[in-house]
Amino acid sequence: MRLKTESKEEQEYLFNCPHAKKCGGCSYNNIPYEKQLEKKEGRVRGLFAQLPGYKNFKPDRIIATSPYHYRNKVHGVLGFKNSRIISGLYSEDSHHVVSVTDCLIEDEDASAVIAGVAELAGPFKYTAFDEDRGRGFLRHVLVRVAHSDGVKKLLVVIVTALREFPRKNDFVKALTGRFPMIETIIWNYNPKRTSMVLSDNNTVIYGPGYIVDDMLGLRFAISAGSFYQVNHEGAERMYSLARDLAGLTGKERVLDAYCGTGTIGMLMCDKAESVMGVELCESAVRDAVFNKKLNKLKNYRVLCADATKYITGLRGENAFDVVIMDPPRAGSTPAFIDAVVHSGVKRVVYISCDPETLVRDLRLFIKGGFKLQRAVPIDMFPGTGHVETCCLLDK
Ligand code: SAH
Repeated sequence: MRLKTESKEEQEYLFNCPHAKKCGGCSYNNIPYEKQLEKKEGRVRGLFAQLPGYKNFKPDRIIATSPYHYRNKVHGVLGFKNSRIISGLYSEDSHHVVSVTDCLIEDEDASAVIAGVAELAGPFKYTAFDEDRGRGFLRHVLVRVAHSDGVKKLLVVIVTALREFPRKNDFVKALTGRFPMIETIIWNYNPKRTSMVLSDNNTVIYGPGYIVDDMLGLRFAISAGSFYQVNHEGAERMYSLARDLAGLTGKERVLDAYCGTGTIGMLMCDKAESVMGVELCESAVRDAVFNKKLNKLKNYRVLCADATKYITGLRGENAFDVVIMDPPRAGSTPAFIDAVVHSGVKRVVYISCDPETLVRDLRLFIKGGFKLQRAVPIDMFPGTGHVETCCLLDK
């Protein structure tokens, strides 16, 4: 929901984004950044004050990040306007594509590549897919950004509704000629009438099919569909903080529950005896296995399983000293928390993208005898109302 514009200063801020009204992606777009931070901080503080016995508990000040052009994953829809192909997003109430070329939070090179695909479509005589009629060729462009050895690299996914890609090689040549930062291009064939941008049907048409991002001394591969934090600076801050809070000495056995492609756990390997990642999504686990090899981590293992099933299956066995958990918005489960509470785990680092479910889960940890030591909000998503929080609990 868009917030009511209050002051002149805020109105001016709103004018910074010409698309704010049509897009709706950044619900805090019309609020100066300092004020966004205050709001997020206040929300977290208010929720934590409701924890029994923690009325006077003070979460840390929020960690701010650079508010502009931070998104390293950018998606554009292709459509027609006055019989020219444009790139942008669906307007809120229809299948019409609204042109957006200068978003304030997207990586600018990624946005430029999306606009470039739309421009090249004309000379290549490609049509844009028409959602209403179910006809046309180009549907979406997805661009992901990574930095390795200080060099920026782009991964581009071209999503088409047809199985044929006319003059594919010439198109690849034209696009990479124009944007030398492109490291790889993937063609995704998605004929389905669905809101999912990507199908499973990927063909690598240029480069290795993935890009590699340097993160705090390790390297992580990003492919078309893999999960990766969208704000690199925010992720770096969050991972360093999680590492500090975990307080590892080299002797601990660490569980990284809900581990995604393994990032957080892998970043703790040099300070732990062993790290075990548990993740439900098969493709994320495949990425984690790849990342383990890429970083030559000998003390890391990953398992494809439901986190609750895995930990309850241990039946109180003293398998881990420290638990890192980063569940999706819905939070964890009472059974997961009960199993941690009744095991030998001494410290828990809980990372959450939803403070409501976080506080709900913290109540159970506290009831089970854990003590909340710190809570640090981090602004991973400037411009939006979302806030990430990293907590430390111990026994
Ligand atoms: N820590 C990761 C992000 C984790 S996002 C990073 O920073 O990159 C949350 C992850 O939890 C997703 O990868 C999702 O697939 C996984 N997940 C969701 N439900 C799960 C469950 N029941 N058991 C294990 N993993 C689950």
